[in-house]
Amino acid sequence: MAGQKQKVNLVVDLTGKTVLVTGACSGIGYGVAEVMSQAGANVLVNDLLPGRTLEVARQLQGESFPGDITDPDFVRLVREKQVDILINNAGFQHVSPLESFTPEIYRRMLEVLLVGPFMLSQAVVPGMKERGFGRIINIASVHAKIASAFKAGYVSAKHGLLGLTRVIALETATHGITVNAICPGYVDTPLVRNQLKDLAAGHNLPEEDVLNQVILRPVPMKRLLTPGEVGFLALFLCSNAADAITAQGYTIDGGWIQI
Ligand code: NAD
Repeated sequence: MAGQKQKVNLVVDLTGKTVLVTGACSGIGYGVAEVMSQAGANVLVNDLLPGRTLEVARQLQGESFPGDITDPDFVRLVREKQVDILINNAGFQHVSPLESFTPEIYRRMLEVLLVGPFMLSQAVVPGMKERGFGRIINIASVHAKIASAFKAGYVSAKHGLLGLTRVIALETATHGITVNAICPGYVDTPLVRNQLKDLAAGHNLPEEDVLNQVILRPVPMKRLLTPGEVGFLALFLCSNAADAITAQGYTIDGGWIQI
């Protein structure tokens, strides 16, 4: 109303909301799940190993929800849950020159990084439409926007995930649902630490030089991100302040790619 100041509340309260975080037992998934839990959400903790999901669910006062996201039986179970916020995070990396990149690993990367998020989105969107609220956040990568050598599977899948994000955003935009991707640079997680050896071989460098000479070389901030930093961006996208933000790919990378 003219002349009246509208008060803005930047506290994000997810009490009453259920968040499914895939791959929540490690790295970014854990960081996002922890932030969501701190914001009051009920977190469905998904990962491959039931023992680990149980442990993490206890830590976060959430619900253990183990399963392989590419398994249609798991997707059927997701259909039965009321998921208000879906965080498609589960993933893995494989580093290899094109000539030795096996079609089996290439297909598996597309399956986990792209087909899984597609099937889970299909499973949760009808309920979100019914309730008139939903958030889908796809943890993509800077590799959804740029390429790096030796990552044929990963870069293909992440570019696809950003495209999928935009399509689902357009199909849900009038239903109170937003769909966005977060595109992190290198985050300090086992996925990054485990690729140092293969990157060393690919770039013909000693393993201890890979972090500074390959990974952080183009990054102005000269440090890895933390999972919590990705979590807070995800939390903002879940807030009412982000109601009008959809179909975007948010880069968080210490200034690396600037797109
Ligand atoms: P991580 O290896 O620490 O954790 C990934 C988790 O996903 C693991 O717990 C794993 O068990 C789980 N997972 C793998 N396949 C699964 C499946 N089929 N079903 C259920 N769970 C499965 O890796 P991270 O670095 O935390 O990466 C998480 C996501 O963030 C990935 O999609 C990755 O591509 C993306 N990402 C990571 C970085 C980074 O620098 N670490 C940067 C950009 C994007």
